[in-house]
Amino acid sequence: MNEGLHTKVAHDEVDTKHYGAVTMPIYQNSLFAFENHESFDHAMQDVLAATVYSRGNNPTVQYLEGKIAELEEAERARCFASGMAAIAGSLHALLRSGDHVICVNQAYGPTRQFLDELSERYRVEVTYVDGCMLSDFEEQLRPHTRLIYLESPTSGLFQLQDLEGVAALARREGVLTMIDSSWATPCYQRPLNWGIDLVLHSMTKYFSGHSDCLGGVVAGRADLIDEIANKGYMLFGGVMTPHTASLMIRGLRTLPLRMERHHSSGLIIAEFMEKHPLVNRVNHPGLPSHPQHALACKQLDGYGSLFSFETQLSAEMLKKWADALRYFRIGVSWGGFESLVTVGQTPASRNATGNNPSVARLYIGLEDPQTLIGDIEQAWEHVIGT
Ligand SMILES: *Cc1c(COP(=O)(O)O)cnc(C)c1O
Repeated sequence: MNEGLHTKVAHDEVDTKHYGAVTMPIYQNSLFAFENHESFDHAMQDVLAATVYSRGNNPTVQYLEGKIAELEEAERARCFASGMAAIAGSLHALLRSGDHVICVNQAYGPTRQFLDELSERYRVEVTYVDGCMLSDFEEQLRPHTRLIYLESPTSGLFQLQDLEGVAALARREGVLTMIDSSWATPCYQRPLNWGIDLVLHSMTKYFSGHSDCLGGVVAGRADLIDEIANKGYMLFGGVMTPHTASLMIRGLRTLPLRMERHHSSGLIIAEFMEKHPLVNRVNHPGLPSHPQHALACKQLDGYGSLFSFETQLSAEMLKKWADALRYFRIGVSWGGFESLVTVGQTPASRNATGNNPSVARLYIGLEDPQTLIGDIEQAWEHVIGT
């Protein structure tokens, strides 16, 4: 864990503007009025910084953005209504017709769908690469490549990309880099320090931490964030509400604390799964068996608690196992207090062997890990007997 993280989220200067309130008040207003037209005109000339209208700036949201920028060691951050609003808004702001994008093929599904839309409608060229090797990116570079889009680790197979290597390659070629870092949070991965240009998160996951609101954020250099703010943010209007920002601020106070718990519980259960005779492999970057474990040790300070495992059982059997679980709920998303499970097919890239193992994704919440292990065991017994 980065030194000072707990202090960064817990500590604020006394804010004399708000009667010394220790939490940021919710500014529940759409517009801001001015004493005279001169100050209004002045603010209108600086809409990116001034509080004029809450689709542009709102003090509650700005407070949160400042905190995240601090955690990511970024010049600036912008919060959106959801992770997808941050992704779509940023991509739309930065890409033009004729640009080429290299994206990891395991990127979040809707991110790929959005890039495919840009490709079909606006002639943005997209190339998907595995991304585990630096050469995957190098080989696909073209004169009009504008952006390399990363997600590390990915949220299905938990593959990593070499952030320092990709950033150096991209800088040399004048290409922008952007990463979805939702899994690691700024507690465990600070991509800007490796030279990546923009980092984004689905705040719906660990930042919120309580499965009660949606949000997204993008952080990076001021010029890039301002360009995104001017276009993808203001014009799409998918902004975070002050109410949501207040919930996110509350989540942020305990983010490093919760991440420590997720880190350790996730590893305990991943190690337990790896020993189970019915499990072929566990996809968790923190396990020494993960093919990119050395890279994980280099660029991550800790681990998220979302991982997957593969088994020879049919998907049908695995779904029966999921049904028998009492503490893991069946559902999408992750990052909250509650453990979750979903069952699916092994991604095509691993299906070369001809047999068709199934895969389950586990999210380890804040419950006692021994309770969760007991739950997993009783569910196996339920499905296969002893
Ligand atoms: C959930 C998720 C998103 C999208 O975030 P929303 O807040 O649901 O829009 C993006 N990337 C990853 C890795 C996610 O898990």
